[in-house]
Amino acid sequence: MADTIFDRIIRREIPADIVYEDDAILAFRDIAPAAPVHVLFIPKKPIATLNDATDADAALIGKLVLAATRWAKAQGFADKGYRLVTNCNQDGGQTVFHIHVHLLAGRQMHWPPG
Ligand code: 5GP
Repeated sequence: MADTIFDRIIRREIPADIVYEDDAILAFRDIAPAAPVHVLFIPKKPIATLNDATDADAALIGKLVLAATRWAKAQGFADKGYRLVTNCNQDGGQTVFHIHVHLLAGRQMHWPPG
């Protein structure tokens, strides 16, 4: 899989505002926030899109979502609410081809999204 900007953030080659890290997951603030809180949760394992995740990645995908929900609880806005989003490929609006979960919070979200 081709190197992405997120691989460079994992390797600390470019700076990022990192808010959470464990052995499998890294989370950092989005450079172009779409909400008062906008954090990207990524697996350290490079998986390009959701389409590329396999059964072998089931636990990792679960950890990714749980890391985001745990962080939302720790930050104190989980009860008020938040949104998790993963875009896939062109129609989904994906621009960085390393799976990530957007955690958006701090404002009223709308449905349907744009
Ligand atoms: P996607 O469009 O693939 O769902 O989301 C990619 C996200 O990565 C975008 O929200 C974009 O603002 C963010 N992003 C792109 N490059 C960088 C970067 O170098 N640093 C950070 N922190 N976020 C980035």
